[in-house]
Amino acid sequence: MEKHTKRQISIERAQELKGRIEDFLEAKKEIPKGMDQEEEILKRKHRILEVLNGTEEDWEDYQWQLDHRITDVETLSKIIHLSEKEKQQIERVEKKFRWAISPYYLSLADPEDKYDPIRLLSIPTYQELEDICRDLDPMGEEFTNPAGCITRRYPDRLIINVTNECAMYCRHCQRRRNIGEQDVHRSQDLLQESIDYVRENEEIRDVLITGGDALCLSDQDLEWIIKQLKEIPHVDYIRLGSRTLVTMPQRITDSLCSILKKYHPIYINTHFNHPMEITRTSKAACDKLADSGIVLGNQAVLLNGINNDKFVMRVLNHELLKCRVRPYYIFHAKHVQGTSHFNTSIEDGIEIMEYLRGYTSGMAIPTFIVNAPKGQGKTPIFPNYIVSRGPGYVKLRTWEGKIVRYEDHQTKDIREILDT
Ligand SMILES: *Cc1c(COP(=O)(O)O)cnc(C)c1O
Repeated sequence: MEKHTKRQISIERAQELKGRIEDFLEAKKEIPKGMDQEEEILKRKHRILEVLNGTEEDWEDYQWQLDHRITDVETLSKIIHLSEKEKQQIERVEKKFRWAISPYYLSLADPEDKYDPIRLLSIPTYQELEDICRDLDPMGEEFTNPAGCITRRYPDRLIINVTNECAMYCRHCQRRRNIGEQDVHRSQDLLQESIDYVRENEEIRDVLITGGDALCLSDQDLEWIIKQLKEIPHVDYIRLGSRTLVTMPQRITDSLCSILKKYHPIYINTHFNHPMEITRTSKAACDKLADSGIVLGNQAVLLNGINNDKFVMRVLNHELLKCRVRPYYIFHAKHVQGTSHFNTSIEDGIEIMEYLRGYTSGMAIPTFIVNAPKGQGKTPIFPNYIVSRGPGYVKLRTWEGKIVRYEDHQTKDIREILDT
C-alpha cells in the first residue's frame, strides 16, 4: 500500500475516534469539580469559621477539625439551608445513626442544593429510617474475626480495625453498626492480640489497617502498630485505609509523612466518590503522601444519585490520576440497613465499566466489585468480551462492539515444544 493511502486511512480512523468521545466532552462541561469551585469553597470556609468561632490557623489543624465536627442540627442549619421538616428528620435519624461532618468537608457542600453530592454523602436523610428489614452486618464480619480486631476473609491478607472514628460518617457506611454513640479506638490489648495473630500466622503477607479511619489514630499510636507489624519478617507491606484525604486533608502533616516514610512499602487506599471531593487542598495532601513514596489507590462506592453515571465516573478517575491516585476498585453498594436509597443495580456498574474500557486509559479503569454475601469475598464483574467459543477459536467483542474471530489453541508444554 502506498504511504499516502496509509496516511489517509489513519486520518479517517482518527476522525472516527474523535467521534467516539464527543458525547463525553459535552457531558463533562456539566459535571461539577472541586478544582473549579475554589472561590465558593473559600467563601463557605469563612462562613463556617465564623459560626464555629475559629481562626485560619485552627482550620489547618486536624485536631481542631476533629474536635469541631458539626454534630447538631442547630449548627448545621447556620451553614446549610435546611427546611423545618429536614431539621426534624435529621433529629429523628440521629437517634439511630450518628452523624458528624468535619468543617472542611462541609465547606465543599452547596448550602442551597438539596441534591448536592457532598450533602447526600454526609447529611442524614429520612430514608435512612425507612429500610428496617435489612441486615446491619450483611457481610457477616462478626463471623470472620479469628482474633483481636481482625477481619480475615482471604488466605494471605487481613484487616485490623483499629478505631470506629472517622472525620465524617458517610451516610452509605457499610460498618454503621460500629459507629455507635462515641468514638472509641481499640484497646492496646486488642491491638496487641491482632498483631500477635499476624506474627503467629506466617501466610499473612499483607496487613490492612483500617476502621473507621486508620488516620484518626494519633501519629504515635499508628507508629506503635506499624513498627511492630514491620518487624514481622513475613509481612511484605502495610496498607492503610483512610478517607481523611477526602474529608480532612489537614491530617496529612509533615510529621505523619516522616513517620510513614520509615516503614516502606506503605500503600494508602482512600475513598473519593465524586469529582467535587477533589480540591486543591485534597490534591496537596495526595501530593505530600506521593512525594513521601506512598502509593495511593482509590476505592469508590457506586452510589445512586452521586456517581452512578458513566461520565461522572470517568471524570472522577481522570481527576484522581491528576492527583497521583490510581483508581483501584468501584464497589457495588452493599445492602446495609439504612442505606437502600443509595443502592444501584449491578447493571449501572457494568455500564460504567463498558464506557471506561477503550474510551479512556487503562490507568483510569478500576475493577468493579460485588461483595458476595456473608463475607464470601470480593467478586469482580465485567462486561462480556467473549461472545462465543469453539474448537480452535474464540469470538471476541472489541470495546467498540465489533465482533472478531480470534484463533486460539491449547497450550502445549514448553518442554515438548523445545524438544521436538
Ligand atoms: C477487601 C478486603 C481485603 C483486601 O482485599 P484486596 O482485594 O486485596 O484489596 C482484605 N481483607 C478483607 C477482610 C477485605 O474485606
